[in-house]
Amino acid sequence: MNKPTDIPLAWPEFDQQEQAALIEVLQSHRWSVGEQLLRFEAECAALAGCDHAVGVNSGTSGLQIALEALGIGTGDEVIVPAYTFVGSVNAILASGAEPVLVDVDRESLNLAPDSVRAALGPRVKAIMAVHLFGRLAAMDELNAIAEHAGLHVIEDACESAGAHRDGQTAGNLSDIGCYAFYPNKPIAAGEGGMLLLHDADLALRCRQLRNQGFDPISGSYLQDRHGHSARLSEWHAAIGTAQLRRLDRSLAQRDRVAAMYRERLATDERLELPCLAAGDERIAWFTFPLRLTQRLASQRDSLLAQLRSHGIGCNTYFTPVHHLPFHRDRHRQVDLSVSEDIGGRCLALPLHTELSAEQVDRICSALQSCLDRLDR
Ligand SMILES: *Cc1c(COP(=O)(O)O)cnc(C)c1O
Repeated sequence: MNKPTDIPLAWPEFDQQEQAALIEVLQSHRWSVGEQLLRFEAECAALAGCDHAVGVNSGTSGLQIALEALGIGTGDEVIVPAYTFVGSVNAILASGAEPVLVDVDRESLNLAPDSVRAALGPRVKAIMAVHLFGRLAAMDELNAIAEHAGLHVIEDACESAGAHRDGQTAGNLSDIGCYAFYPNKPIAAGEGGMLLLHDADLALRCRQLRNQGFDPISGSYLQDRHGHSARLSEWHAAIGTAQLRRLDRSLAQRDRVAAMYRERLATDERLELPCLAAGDERIAWFTFPLRLTQRLASQRDSLLAQLRSHGIGCNTYFTPVHHLPFHRDRHRQVDLSVSEDIGGRCLALPLHTELSAEQVDRICSALQSCLDRLDR
């Protein structure tokens, strides 16, 4: 339980819209597969600029269904960044395929195209590009590699609903994109995910996989393929729709918080800060991910503990996947030095719409005084 003075790492916002939406679902007696889901799917498709959207019960099961819909499974390999949330990799394992972990770019923290090229091989069938921390990956280059090698591309846009750059929008730049709606995501519904597609047949396959393999048009129970139980409930869809309608405002507020952090911390040489959005770019911030300078890397975990004891939510986003106990030694050995370096120094600070200038100031003061003590 948070103390009143605690500042949580994530804090989903809501108002009467979400409250009314929940009551409406309750009173409709239609708690699954109804109007709310159809409406939320249509609004997510419009947000991403895609023709089709298929709601699912989590981002991870969405990514798994995306792989299966593309025919990827046992015996196939999928390229994925080592520096990501483990859900990206768990989805690949659940599909039966093998993840090939590759390194990320030091600045963007997204897939490094050269590392992707170096990892290509006869069993690689797809690239899973992750738009990490709400910042678009280098999709033109990744799509060019994929086209040349005859690969599918999936976007893990779980952290990046509403993000765009140079006229490109997260979720619409590949065969299948996927949002997630866990409470720290840009659109927060508690749980859930949304597949985003251009291809009508592929969208139907995703619908079939989402619901027990039933025929999505006739509703026939005579399934001709396996399926999952991965529907998005009407509650989640109703809250998701209300959240989506405040997304523009919410992302603008988050931008302001990121700018406050930068302004406050930019001259501190002990820290490496993420860049703010430039030009027409929009970053879907959900945390402020910074790094300690190399010299202080060994102090990262003590710093985390001290910040928490001051009531400040923080975390190590992310530990590279191959350093997680289950995943250690399971993956093809390639150079992952950037992921390892960043993973050892990273620290994620609170960033949400309701964070005030005073709170940002309190967080930064605590961070700097902890650093003063640790760096003596
Ligand atoms: C949140 C997230 C997911 C999916 O998470 P779920 O909890 O399954 O919805 C996948 N990939 C990334 C990068 C994420 O941040």
